[in-house]
Amino acid sequence: MIAELICVGTELLMGQILNTNAQFIAKELAPRGIDMYHQIVVGDNPQRLTEVVRTALSRADILLFSGGLGPTDDDLTKETVCNALGLELVLYDDEWQKILDYFESKGRTVASNNKKQAMFPPNAHILDNPNGTAPGCLIEKDGKTIIFMPGPPRELCPMFVNHVIPYLQGKSGHLLYSREIRIFGMGESEVAQKLGEIFDSSNPTVAPYVKTGEVTLRVTAQCQTEQAGLLLVAPMVTRIKEILGDLVYSTDGETLALVCHNALIAQNKSLSVAESCTGGLLASAFVDIPNSSRYFIEGAVTYSNDAKLRRLGVRPSTLKKHGAVSAECAKEMAEGMRRTSNTELALSTTGIAGPDGGTDEKPVGLVYIALATPQGTSVKELRLFGDRDRIRLTAVLNSLDMLRRYML
Ligand code: AMP
Ligand code: MG
Repeated sequence: MIAELICVGTELLMGQILNTNAQFIAKELAPRGIDMYHQIVVGDNPQRLTEVVRTALSRADILLFSGGLGPTDDDLTKETVCNALGLELVLYDDEWQKILDYFESKGRTVASNNKKQAMFPPNAHILDNPNGTAPGCLIEKDGKTIIFMPGPPRELCPMFVNHVIPYLQGKSGHLLYSREIRIFGMGESEVAQKLGEIFDSSNPTVAPYVKTGEVTLRVTAQCQTEQAGLLLVAPMVTRIKEILGDLVYSTDGETLALVCHNALIAQNKSLSVAESCTGGLLASAFVDIPNSSRYFIEGAVTYSNDAKLRRLGVRPSTLKKHGAVSAECAKEMAEGMRRTSNTELALSTTGIAGPDGGTDEKPVGLVYIALATPQGTSVKELRLFGDRDRIRLTAVLNSLDMLRRYML
C-alpha cells in the first residue's frame, strides 16, 4: 500500500515554516508497513494543487493532505481536491454545531467563513479535532483513500495518531516491527565490514544510518503481530550484539546519556563534571534528562587557565609544562572536581574546538577527556574532526562513552 503526502501552504514553500508534519507522518508510517515514495509541498494555489492531486492519484493508494483547512480564502485544500475528484461539498450540521460550541467555549464569535470548515463531501468519515476548529476527514473513492488534516502540528499530530493510524493499520494487514541498535566507537564502514552478510537478511532487514559520531542499526521485521515481529527481530539483535560486543550501548534506541543516567541511578553513584571546550554541553546532556538530580551534583565550566587553577586546583606547573590541552591537565581537572564536589565520579574535558587555536603539535580537534573514580583516574586522547559544533558534540559523546564503559 502506497501513501503520498501532500503538504499545502505557501509559507512552507517560502521556508517560513519548517515542514515538521512531513517528518512526523513519515516516521509514523515507516514502521507500519505503509510505503511512501513521494512527499510534495505545494503552495496555496488551486491550479498547481490540482496537478499534484492528479499525479498522486496515478501512483498512490492513499493521499494524505496537510494544511489548508482553515476558514480564510487561501485555505482551499478540501475545495480544490474535491473539485478535482468530482465531489461536491455539503454542510454537515453536527460538525457546524461543534464549531459553534468550540467558539462559544473560547468566548469568541464565529465568522461566517468558518462554515466552510463544516463542509465535506457526502459519506465522508469526519476526523475529530479537539485542538482546533477544522475537523479532518477521510473519504474513499474509486479504490483510493483521501485524508485531509489541518496544518497546525498540535492539531494534526493527535489526529493522525488517534484516527488515521488505526485506519491505515487496518488496511495494510501487516505491520513492521523494529528495534534500534546503537553503536559507539566504530565508524559505519567498519561496522558494515564486521557484520558482513547480516545486511543481506531480508526478514528482518538490517539497515545502518549515521548520526554525528554514532552509528545506528535498524532491525526491521515484516509481520502480522507485534509478538511475531519480536520473535523475528530478537535473534538478529542477539547476533549483532555477539559480533560487536560492548560497542553496542543500547538495543532499544536509548541515547548514550540516558544509558549513563540509568546506570548511575541503578548503581547509586554521584557525578560532577568539569568542562573546558565542551562549555556546559556535557552537564546539559545529563540535566536534560528528568531525575538527573538523583546523581548529578555539580558542573563547572572552567574555560580559562585561571578557572582551572582556582576552581579545580590544577597545578600551575602542569599548565606551564603541558598546557591546558593535555592529558595531565584533564586528569587534574577531573580529580579536582571529584575532590571539591565530593562525588564518587567526575568527568572532565579540555581541547581545541577550533576553528582557530590549533598548532602543528596541538591541532584543532585534539581533546583530552578524563574520568576520576575511587579506583583512580583514566585519561583518553581524542583526535576529532569537523567544525566546532561537531568537535564539541563528539567530545561529549566520547566522555559519555567513557563513563558508560566504566559503569559496565
Ligand atoms: P493551514 O492549516 O494551512 O492554515 O496552516 C496553519 C498553520 O499550521 C501554518 O501557518 C503553520 O504554522 C502550520 N503548518 C501548516 N503546515 C505545516 C507543516 N507541514 N508542518 C508544520 N507546520 C505546518
Ligand atoms: Mg495555509
